[in-house]
Amino acid sequence: MTAAIRRVEAEGSATSPRAPLQPFDIGHATHVAVVEPDTAFWGLVRKERLADTLAGGELLDAFRAKAAAFAREMEMLRFRLKPSAVYFNPTARCNLNCSYCYIPEDMRRSGAQMDTAAVLAALDRLDAYFRGHMPPERLPQVIFHGAEPLLARKAIFAAIAAYGDRFRFGVQTNATLLDDAAVSFLTARGVGIGLSLDGPIAAVADRTRRRWSGRGVFDRVVRAIDRLDGYPGFNVICTMTAQNLPHLVAMVEFLHRHRVPACMLNVTRCTLPAARSQRGDDDSVWRAYLAALERTHALYRVSGRKLVVANFANILIAILAPTARRLMCDISPCGGGRSFFALAPNGDLFPCSEFIGLPAFAGGNLFRQPVEEILDSPPFRLVTGRTVEDVAGCRTCPVRHFCGSPCPAEAHEMNGGMTQKGAFCRFYEEQARYALRVIADGRHEDFLWDGWDAGTEATCTIGST
Ligand code: SF4
Ligand code: SF4
Repeated sequence: MTAAIRRVEAEGSATSPRAPLQPFDIGHATHVAVVEPDTAFWGLVRKERLADTLAGGELLDAFRAKAAAFAREMEMLRFRLKPSAVYFNPTARCNLNCSYCYIPEDMRRSGAQMDTAAVLAALDRLDAYFRGHMPPERLPQVIFHGAEPLLARKAIFAAIAAYGDRFRFGVQTNATLLDDAAVSFLTARGVGIGLSLDGPIAAVADRTRRRWSGRGVFDRVVRAIDRLDGYPGFNVICTMTAQNLPHLVAMVEFLHRHRVPACMLNVTRCTLPAARSQRGDDDSVWRAYLAALERTHALYRVSGRKLVVANFANILIAILAPTARRLMCDISPCGGGRSFFALAPNGDLFPCSEFIGLPAFAGGNLFRQPVEEILDSPPFRLVTGRTVEDVAGCRTCPVRHFCGSPCPAEAHEMNGGMTQKGAFCRFYEEQARYALRVIADGRHEDFLWDGWDAGTEATCTIGST
């Protein structure tokens, strides 16, 4: 579909009745945001014009003209999507024992693993399911995920070779098994590759990501990054923990130096107790994160080469053109069980990989039940039915559709239920504030992939002050 770009900067004039617009202070020298949260409509106005703008004028007129279309667009995005991707876990095992992993230790040591026949049989069923509702020209996405999917390398490479014309494939790996042969195989087929690294030097990175023996894997991951130099389809995930926050600026400098095209700076998902003990406090996380974002911008201005921080780029896109977003943690209901689901090695389906360590959230089994029936199971409905409007403290938040109140797995396990917040509320609020500041300064394109708005159309672009 075509995404509507919301780009509004306007002067207000006191000519129209009261608008349902809420002011949102973005910490900018000259501008303040006004937001109509239900439709994710927003504008930036000069501070001295705020009172006039709230009373009426050009911005309110623009909102009135587009409100119904924006509301329909949000309704479609939030409630009418069908899955187009699967996080495919071919093995529960991992050769690492990272400190914040969301998969329980006994599963990672000796859990189930699919053989080639099982992986192919699963893809056959998934293919039939996706073909039932996706147009032939659009390929569903399969991301081999873990645990460590390359422990099942023979099976997943056979699957990629056999189904390359039916799916777009990706692999999310700890990179320790990403040797020359694996890199050649995957890059020749255009497979997306995500790998994980938590610090710019071994002494930091190895604090959280290590083997069962306790030995770190920094050197191996850096070798894999260098093997991938020049491949546009790879990114690095860095999980922000108490261990690496002071090194986040150095981390983006390191990634930029190694010519990594995109990264994600992710908060620690606090679903399991082990992860909670690794998290940084909310204030330290957002401050370190914003400093790292600023550094990526400075590096781009000097070098002309971008290191896109994909999770932040997604927030910018969520603000500029909500339906063009690529990640689905920042909208409610989130993407889990709705725009994608996760497959465990025994065939059980979960709304998201984040739930794989929680047996109560298995909705059914791919090898025994139709996918449609599993998507409608009580565990899936518990996740897909969680809206930001149900969460105390979020239902009146001005940035609720640029945040989504993640994450349901966290909220359920850490805070006792789906109507609770997850972790890092302040982080999400400050991220939205910063994104609007970046837009107010006209710097947003510098943080986005080139050509991000191909296929979007501007539906609300009015004169800037
Ligand atoms: S918010 Fe949590 S459950 Fe939802 S998609 Fe993101 S990680 Fe998965
Ligand atoms: S978690 Fe915080 S920032 Fe996000 S919607 Fe709720 S109140 Fe707003």
